[in-house]
Amino acid sequence: MESYKHILLAADFSEHGETVAQRAKDLAEKYQAKLSIVHVMDNLLITDAAYGSTIPFDLDLTAELMAAAKKRLAALAEKLNIAEDSRYMETGSPKLEIIRVAEENKVDLIVVGSHGRHGFALLLGSTANGVLHHALCDVLAVRLHDE
Ligand code: AMP
Repeated sequence: MESYKHILLAADFSEHGETVAQRAKDLAEKYQAKLSIVHVMDNLLITDAAYGSTIPFDLDLTAELMAAAKKRLAALAEKLNIAEDSRYMETGSPKLEIIRVAEENKVDLIVVGSHGRHGFALLLGSTANGVLHHALCDVLAVRLHDE
């Protein structure tokens, strides 16, 4: 089997994210692969009905959320020694954006957590499930337990 050359860590900054990040880093070291990281700011966060559907689209709030997410991405990337040009901050559907970034950058392994922010009710979270079903490359879903 050929070894992996480019691994993409999908980071959602949830409490178990460290476990997923560490696994991606270990694999990158084992295979001497390049490690990249992606975080997607979900559009739903901005247009969520919970915030009131009549509230006008707030550009300041969006910019603030984006800046905060970029900071967290930078902090995690620094910790993992990921170069600046290998950090991807996207907006839109997490599943679709993770897959797009992977395809555009010839990633051969995507590392996700089995669950993220959306809880442990399902066997596999919806982002993990979507990436697993639609990515063209290998996907590792790191099993996370609710303890
Ligand atoms: P979920 O399927 O949403 O429970 O999340 C499972 C995994 O998908 C997480 O552990 C992350 O690896 C990845 N993921 C979820 N949401 C995002 C996001 N917005 N940006 C990047 N990765 C994500």
